[in-house]
Amino acid sequence: MFKHIPSYPGDPILSLMHTFMKDDRPHKANLSIGLYYDEAGKIPVLKSVELAQQRIDESVPHVYLPMEGDNTYRRLIAETVFGADHVAVKEQRVATIHTLGGSGALKVGADFLKTYFPDSELWISDPTWENHYNILGGAGLVMHTFPYYDPATNGIRFDEMMAALEQLPARAIVLLQPCCHNPTGIDPTREQWTAIADVLLRRNVIPFFDMAYQGFGDGLDEDAWVVRHMAAQGAAMLVGNSFSKNMSLYGERVGGLSVVCNTSAEAGQVLGQLQATVRKNYSSPPLFGSRVVSGVLGDPELRAMWAAEVTQMRKRIHEMRAALRSGLKARLPDLDVEYFVTQRGMFSYTGLGQAQVDTLRDEYGVYLIKSGRMCVAGLSHGNLELVADSMAKVMQPA
Ligand code: PLP
Repeated sequence: MFKHIPSYPGDPILSLMHTFMKDDRPHKANLSIGLYYDEAGKIPVLKSVELAQQRIDESVPHVYLPMEGDNTYRRLIAETVFGADHVAVKEQRVATIHTLGGSGALKVGADFLKTYFPDSELWISDPTWENHYNILGGAGLVMHTFPYYDPATNGIRFDEMMAALEQLPARAIVLLQPCCHNPTGIDPTREQWTAIADVLLRRNVIPFFDMAYQGFGDGLDEDAWVVRHMAAQGAAMLVGNSFSKNMSLYGERVGGLSVVCNTSAEAGQVLGQLQATVRKNYSSPPLFGSRVVSGVLGDPELRAMWAAEVTQMRKRIHEMRAALRSGLKARLPDLDVEYFVTQRGMFSYTGLGQAQVDTLRDEYGVYLIKSGRMCVAGLSHGNLELVADSMAKVMQPA
């Protein structure tokens, strides 16, 4: 019956993680998958999360959540993404549901858009997170790219990006990452965001923000700036967010999808269709993670503790970026490696080619993904020498 089913070559990033785990060399560094590791090289359990988990009453039955998720969790998502006092939240113009991480938000959002905007096509940055193609394209959206990364300057091809956005048809969907762009680590400045927001509003397109790294760029509020700015301007848009990274709750599948509408009546209608989309997909979201997140965000003391932990993670990433820059500078004084400190979030586009990435992995046990993207959140003082040494070797001009 299933003979004709082709074998799955595996997801390139997840397969690489597997290869890393099987690699028995004593000195190795995993800088491939988007996971935050602490200074000890471990995926942390945040103290705020641990305390919230301890406070969960285990005698409460494991009932189904409603399709849209728990009400408290949904309210706390909206407050984290937009801020409790945001005009769109106050006017009840935001329809928020619990999704299976940021990935679930992309899938439910894409299904919703495909159903109610069947003629709309999607524009996405070149390059982008590889799984965007699977999830959004898989939901049937026709995908195009707009210019983003400029290898010559290690910055944004801003003029070309703006020119492409200026050409978009009304109701086109534009996927944007508000902070910590995956895979490049390059974000628009606030001035550039303002200009981008103006074009999107003028062209009457549908922004779809994918915010997987809130807090890892400049701060929890700062990173959501463009989302809050556009929602305050009255833009109708979608925002996916995730607690996978900033609460280190990867496997609990805690994320959200918020659709900002023009009126609260519209938000009610949209919420209903989001519920219907969830029902058709997986019926309802998982309970445990949302109880933990609500425990953190709903308690002022734990929330403050969490915010401080996010700051700590962000600072550690910045420190590691600076340490790698110095390590490379000491070994290759003529090479410009400033981009390691100007890029934001968990990733850096190193500019290394496939052959260099292969050498790093095969000869030195340093794992990057094949595009040359490095997860800088995998650096620690324990592996910095190995990484700086081996990178300097492959980066050395011939
Ligand atoms: N969007 C981007 C840009 C990501 O990098 C990721 C995770 O790597 C996601 C969405 C998915 O997040 P989650 O793991 O919460 O599904």
